[in-house]
Amino acid sequence: MKLVILGGVAAGAKAAAKAGRLLPDAQIDIYTDDTHVSYSACGLPYYIEGNFENYEILLVRSPEEFKAQGINVHLQHRAIKILPESKQILIFNIVEEKGFLIEYDKLIIAIGASPVIQQINNINLKNIFTLRKIEDGIAVKEKVLRSKNAVIVGGGYIGVELLEAFVQQGLRTTLIEYAPHIMPMFDDDISKIIKNQLTEHSNSQYEILTSEIISEFSGDMDGVRSVRTTSGLDIQTDLVMLCTGAKPNVEIAMDAGIAIGETGAIKVNEKMETNIPDIYACGDCAEETLVINNTKIWMPLGSIANKEGRCAAMNACGFEDIFPGVLASAVTRCLDLTMSLTGLTEKNARKHGFKPVSATVTKNDKVGYMPDVNNITLKLVADSESGLLLGAQAVGTGDADKRINVFASALLGKLTVEEFLAHDLTYAPPFSPTIDPLLNAAQILASKIKKTL
Ligand SMILES: Cc1cc2nc3c(=O)[nH]c(=O)nc-3n(C[C@H](O)[C@H](O)[C@H](O)COP(=O)(O)OP(=O)(O)OC[C@H]3O[C@@H](n4cnc5c(N)ncnc54)[C@H](O)[C@@H]3O)c2cc1C
Repeated sequence: MKLVILGGVAAGAKAAAKAGRLLPDAQIDIYTDDTHVSYSACGLPYYIEGNFENYEILLVRSPEEFKAQGINVHLQHRAIKILPESKQILIFNIVEEKGFLIEYDKLIIAIGASPVIQQINNINLKNIFTLRKIEDGIAVKEKVLRSKNAVIVGGGYIGVELLEAFVQQGLRTTLIEYAPHIMPMFDDDISKIIKNQLTEHSNSQYEILTSEIISEFSGDMDGVRSVRTTSGLDIQTDLVMLCTGAKPNVEIAMDAGIAIGETGAIKVNEKMETNIPDIYACGDCAEETLVINNTKIWMPLGSIANKEGRCAAMNACGFEDIFPGVLASAVTRCLDLTMSLTGLTEKNARKHGFKPVSATVTKNDKVGYMPDVNNITLKLVADSESGLLLGAQAVGTGDADKRINVFASALLGKLTVEEFLAHDLTYAPPFSPTIDPLLNAAQILASKIKKTL
């Protein structure tokens, strides 16, 4: 069996490794236009921050390790065209600048996503970066170590992670977000708390500007020098990070007649099959099903890409497997603040046609007399008509992450608030108050629902 995998970071690398174990005699080839294979893009902000010196720590498996498993990795080879009728792919060797055709029995597309770059005046100046690949991380870190000031455009996950990285590297940093709130995947009230908590401790080393639109970059031969906004700000800087989102790479799939879903990513079923026989898609180029209400969603996350890569490999190799979908669970950190969520926010629940009700509590994450006690704010969302749990958000300097994971299990189990209240959660002073904040919030939610019934 000839298995071809396009792309080899998270989904592609996982699919290859799994397929190699399932079918050791198969011919498995990874074609990627990248200079590296099988790496943790998620670790790049921490490399820039200086948590470790050598970026090679981020490389999970080398081409040589794949080779030892019988898997051929072709770096700097871009797939140009997929020909499903003849089961061929046109590949372009970037180094030798020549194209050639290869054949496949089964094809897994794992070509990921690319940064969204807005059309802003002088966007092509030197030292204006995006962060996606290993080379990006190396280039950004080199510049960071020679800089004093930085501007980050975009206050989503990567923007806030880089805010931490730059601040820890001693840069005076300005984060600019065009929306009224940073971390807009949270409800507005929670985003406000995030901004307030982050700016409380900024000590003038960094600033977060919201509702601020960039009009142009200016600079010279040496690179960007300043960032101008429509409100008249002119911020001097040595470098700019564009963290304005990502979009799925779907062009070659579309061109081959592979169906694109309503989210703009490749449409797949729960076996990661596309509409074309023997072609699978997984990771950031494919869309997901939100298990709460079986609607389509695009969640470009490493956690999901790995699971989908495994599922695609299982099915491509003839072993049936199902990827049931996602809850959109995510977590990140900026300085000492943890931000985590799962399921639907209140605003999204409304968009999905639910009648949401919510409860928000701010509590200690452990008993108040413990020396390392910290705060967390928890917001739980449920459907006011059925009592069904819909989502949870947590922010704070305390343990805001594991509690969201508990809630994610409840969402998967499709529990109601009343059912959730029966959870027997652990307690000891170093870990939680006597009654966990999750149960406090659920109790308030249950009372609110009773009133609405
Ligand atoms: C800075 C950063 C931090 C992140 N942090 C987190 C985190 O903390 N938690 C989390 O869950 N997720 C995180 N993510 C997201 C996570 O990294 C991605 O979801 C994951 O890398 C997706 O893997 P993938 O294999 O689907 O796609 P990609 O990582 O995009 O890899 C696709 C590969 O395919 C190659 N390719 C594209 N087109 C072609 C073509 N035509 N032919 C051949 N090759 C092609 C690309 O060059 C690339 O190497 C982060 C991402 C970034 C950038």
